Amino acid sequence: MLTDHFRPQSFNGIDDIVIVGGGLAGLFCALKLSPRPVTVLAAAPIGHGASSTWAQGGIAAAMGLGDTIDKHVADTLNAGAGIVDEKMTRLMVAEGPARIHDLLGYGVPFDRDLEGKLVLSREAAHSERRIVRVKGDMAGKAIMEALIAAVRNTPSIRVLEGYVVEELVRQGRFISGVIARPDAGQSKKRVSFPARAVVLCSGGVGHLFSVTTNPTEACGQGVGMAARAGAIIADPEFVQFHPTAINIGRDPAPLATEALRGDGAHLINSAGHRFMLDIHPDGELAPRDIVSRGVFAEVLAKRGAFLDCTKAVGAHFPEAFPTVYASCMSAGIDPATQPIPVVPAVHYHMGGVLTDAEGRTAIDGLWAAGEVTSTGVHGANRLASNSLLEAVVFAARIAENIKGMLPEPKITGWGNNAGENDDPVTLEDSPPLTALRHVMSDHVGVIRNKDSLTRAIRAIANLEHQNTRLRFSNILTTAKLMAVAALQRTESRGGHFRSDCPERRAEWKRRTYLTLAEADRIVADVAETEVV
Ligand SMILES: Cc1cc2nc3c(=O)[nH]c(=O)nc-3n(C[C@H](O)[C@H](O)[C@H](O)COP(=O)(O)OP(=O)(O)OC[C@H]3O[C@@H](n4cnc5c(N)ncnc54)[C@H](O)[C@@H]3O)c2cc1C
Repeated sequence: MLTDHFRPQSFNGIDDIVIVGGGLAGLFCALKLSPRPVTVLAAAPIGHGASSTWAQGGIAAAMGLGDTIDKHVADTLNAGAGIVDEKMTRLMVAEGPARIHDLLGYGVPFDRDLEGKLVLSREAAHSERRIVRVKGDMAGKAIMEALIAAVRNTPSIRVLEGYVVEELVRQGRFISGVIARPDAGQSKKRVSFPARAVVLCSGGVGHLFSVTTNPTEACGQGVGMAARAGAIIADPEFVQFHPTAINIGRDPAPLATEALRGDGAHLINSAGHRFMLDIHPDGELAPRDIVSRGVFAEVLAKRGAFLDCTKAVGAHFPEAFPTVYASCMSAGIDPATQPIPVVPAVHYHMGGVLTDAEGRTAIDGLWAAGEVTSTGVHGANRLASNSLLEAVVFAARIAENIKGMLPEPKITGWGNNAGENDDPVTLEDSPPLTALRHVMSDHVGVIRNKDSLTRAIRAIANLEHQNTRLRFSNILTTAKLMAVAALQRTESRGGHFRSDCPERRAEWKRRTYLTLAEADRIVADVAETEVV
């Protein structure tokens, strides 16, 4: 039984503000709204089941000597492959330093030098040192620990852990609340939380794919729920893959950090051939998407892909990379003397629920922040460490917007019983979800083409046809939007690569905007075309 900060009481009334998700975006928004009463519903105990806790690098913010807002914006535009929204990016980058100070105020122990100044590191594709970190690779954990402590000490924030939200309730133009299932979604009981404002902060989509670095809860329910309620979804086809997840059958897959390649580790296939040299002059240090495709091609051709660190790191492995070392040793691989089997893994979703500068979605009463959104700042490919920044900047803007738009009500109440039904499931290891994850990895993965995407859309439609479960409908909806948008975009750009249209095309230098109704029309067309 999961612990609740408070237990829901059953009397009629409405919650003023409900936040769906207890990762960085959700908790930061709740803190920024205080002392206004909010209820945070989180699928898992806060600190668990959130990508935020696993973030290793840190947060990007232009705070260093010689760094400027313009430089950070330019790097972000560059990474996003031509379709980044510059206005939104400028706004995000400009507010970054203030949000870092907020985090310091909440007690986040960012690394400082002897003079007490923040230590800023550099990451790939950043032209300046601008990543604030905690003890090397502990940023996410430290940020979340500090925020959780702050949340627990804020009486206006009620946290209900183990509440899986299944549905956004829409009344006319408005979202008027959510329906959630307690006990990590396993209860027969459904609880409704009527609310005047709902803030969706439910994270990413990694678990729609069979290999991912994301926690299980990141299975795209937020995008699906919002689309089903009528929101506009933007850029769902753009997925960032990490090229070197450790391929030892663990789910989620542990990472073999990029620093290993930076230190000279080579990618080889089972014949010992260093295949990246055939693909890019920078070899293993080519951009992430190119390395991902190189690794994927070897895996697909059944030659396998391995990260050989035996010469570059060798005997220093246990001290130099303790986390990677432990992951490998748990599978009986000694990375000091043996190559590490690797595979590309879904790492980050650039697309999501379309939001404006105040975090508003296309539906009144629904705001969204964090990875579930598409604010436009990532374009077709995310610049490393911009995602935590996006989460805090837009969560804070949402809090301001809600405070300005909705005066504090006199009465608040807690959740009502929304009845029972027979849908309590652990979806996470159910056969239909496993089937979907294979479909997505095989056909909507690192390398896509018209045939594979058509096959994916048909398979998703088939699963939809058989499905009776609400939560799985949300998941299938997200998968469908991703596959349809990938089919529509007949070019390759950033995190979307089509082997049948490998070039970037000028007419596609634009974002994708899709509603569920539009996606369903395309699915119907695909269903009518003849199978070859
Ligand atoms: C291994 C790893 C390393 C990373 N490193 C970095 C980095 O160094 N820098 C960086 O900027 N980004 C990094 N990222 C990306 C970054 O961590 C995420 O984009 C960011 O943390 C997303 O925050 P969020 O609050 O939107 O979502 P999350 O932190 O994932 O939180 C989502 C919350 O929603 C809950 N939830 C999900 N579905 C439901 C539902 N139906 N009902 C109720 N609750 C629900 C979850 O349980 C969770 O509480 C990394 C990601 C991973 C996986």
